[in-house]
Amino acid sequence: MDVSPIALKRRARKIHRILAETYPYAVAELDFRNPFELLVATVLSAQTTDVRVNLTTPALFARYPDARSLAEAAEDELQDMIRPTGFFRAKSRSLLALATRIVDEFDGDVPGRLEDLVTLPGVGRKTANVVLANAFGIPGISVDTHFGRLSRRFGWTTEDDPVKVESEVAALFERKDWTMLSHRVIFHGRRICHAKKPACGACPVASLCPSYGEGEVDPEKARKLLKYELAPGREELRRRMLEGASRAELLAAGHTLSA
Ligand code: SF4
Repeated sequence: MDVSPIALKRRARKIHRILAETYPYAVAELDFRNPFELLVATVLSAQTTDVRVNLTTPALFARYPDARSLAEAAEDELQDMIRPTGFFRAKSRSLLALATRIVDEFDGDVPGRLEDLVTLPGVGRKTANVVLANAFGIPGISVDTHFGRLSRRFGWTTEDDPVKVESEVAALFERKDWTMLSHRVIFHGRRICHAKKPACGACPVASLCPSYGEGEVDPEKARKLLKYELAPGREELRRRMLEGASRAELLAAGHTLSA
């Protein structure tokens, strides 16, 4: 579908509005209380689910509440604590190195600038943007695998390189919307617009999506593909989320938050 730049922008913003209505509860899916915790959680989230990271971090942050304590952690103890997130040897090396650098170069505080964040071991542009957007309130687009895939399906970009995706998509939206756009697109990718079999027949942006038909179009079959709070049988979970329940409250009420 060939569209003019203005039509593309208009359509992109319409898609964003619908995603905002569909996921009014969209937030960063990692639990954190400060920039340090979000940085550590984001490093741990590589190659695993946010749900698994959220199960691991409470004990980790109780033991190592800041960069100074983490920099002095015994490697084997740290490895044991983060083992469930996978790749625990490489991740523990990254965490020790980044905590040491934060202590040595930034006086123990996570820096709030992209150019400083990307100098930390194990921290690329995506992680840096996640931390800036969610812990420092600086608008940013986080191009993870979901965001890249959906941006291409929506026709917002044809690029594969995350930095190019980021700049092309940024040009379609107002800066103040970048952070929430990232959350909503990632939510959509996890719940409906899956990599292998998108649930097109149950998708709220189907009429605006140039890739409609790439996945299951039969509404009943598509509904069965939905994940998380949109999965069939999880209506109560979605109702509680729409009411604004926190992840901690939902877990306490016995809801499963995994896919
Ligand atoms: S219509 Fe299909 S490809 Fe397009 S966003 Fe929806 S699920 Fe994804």
